[in-house]
Amino acid sequence: MLSRIYFDHSATTPLDPRVLEAMLPYMSGSFGNPSSLHREGRAARNAVETARAQVAALIGAEPETIIFTASGTEADNLALIGTVHASGKPGHVVTSVIEHAAILETCRFLAGTGTKVTQLPANRDGLIGPDSLLRALQSNVTIVSIMAANNVVGTLQPIEELAQLTKLHGVLFHTDAVQAAGKTRLDVDRLQVDLLSVSAHKLHGPKGVGALYVRKGTALAPVIFGGGQERGLRSATENVAGIVGFGAAAAIARKELDAESRRLAELRDFILREVTRNLPQASLVGHPTQRLPGHLSLVFRGQERRVGKLLAALDAAGVAVSAGSACSAHHSGEPSSVVLSMGYDAERARGLIRVSLGRFSTRAEAERFLEILIRAVRSNENLIPGCDLSESRQIAEASIA
Ligand code: PLP
Repeated sequence: MLSRIYFDHSATTPLDPRVLEAMLPYMSGSFGNPSSLHREGRAARNAVETARAQVAALIGAEPETIIFTASGTEADNLALIGTVHASGKPGHVVTSVIEHAAILETCRFLAGTGTKVTQLPANRDGLIGPDSLLRALQSNVTIVSIMAANNVVGTLQPIEELAQLTKLHGVLFHTDAVQAAGKTRLDVDRLQVDLLSVSAHKLHGPKGVGALYVRKGTALAPVIFGGGQERGLRSATENVAGIVGFGAAAAIARKELDAESRRLAELRDFILREVTRNLPQASLVGHPTQRLPGHLSLVFRGQERRVGKLLAALDAAGVAVSAGSACSAHHSGEPSSVVLSMGYDAERARGLIRVSLGRFSTRAEAERFLEILIRAVRSNENLIPGCDLSESRQIAEASIA
């Protein structure tokens, strides 16, 4: 029996077996609380501090600048709410229209408490222009937050340039690097960022653990209160096994980054070439070159309203890819707000298919994926319109049972 092809690594990645191995002792014998002073506690503390150094090294930071959190979402919340609260004023957050919900919903919350929020536009490639940032910086700004790589269309932002402009105005700069970390080289000093969010499960680490880089001297208030762990910025007993897994995943990603991102980019370009050669109705959404190495966002002209059926057919044939993240389990059938804000119409924005590769994706899988995709797109042409992911879920369940 052929195994399934998982091409949805922007949603989450499988745990690397080397990461699992590193975590296992901390899920059994090494169970200490890092705040305890006895031997068990000290062993846990050592493991957390080793992981802190490993995560720091992935982004060119010092270990003491890393705050472990329970997710990338929490790191984003801490970055924005923490800097606004520390400023002692309602403040002004400048962000973009294409950010992940972890940023946009945090901005919505802050706006409800009196914070001014400005959203910069994106162009058709998904890039945020420095001109709009410069205009926004003419008023009093607390923090600018622009993502390093977009989860829906894969576009990489010129973070160094945007952060430099922001610095010239003496304003804090945060980047959500949840999708970029482990796939592109990140160095907090070269990028000149003050805060940066990462998440373990996007780089073959465990779910439920993230981190926020906080440049020394940055005023940040906590959003979770309690025992004062993580320098008082994130109280709660540390998720030791998860943090150890994050550290191991970061160390592997750092070591293999150059070779792996080259390999993924080649595989991505091969898929794109073959898709466009065989399916003239296909086109790429997002920047053609400034994009994540393993990431493709495709629309199939004339099939936009049948994307649910296409996904269901792919799922039934053994392929896991996703719709642009708006057509997810929580927002079935809605056009992707990211793609809409890039200037596409609702039809296109509804029809996006996201293909995202990872460490264990192979050329043989890519070839089989192409066969299945080409067949599915061609036969889908005769189907009735409708973006219905409940059907996709039912088919997935039926094929497992
Ligand atoms: N930011 C971006 C760009 C993401 O893609 C995601 C997850 O999809 C997150 C933040 C949230 O990360 P987490 O799943 O760790 O909460």
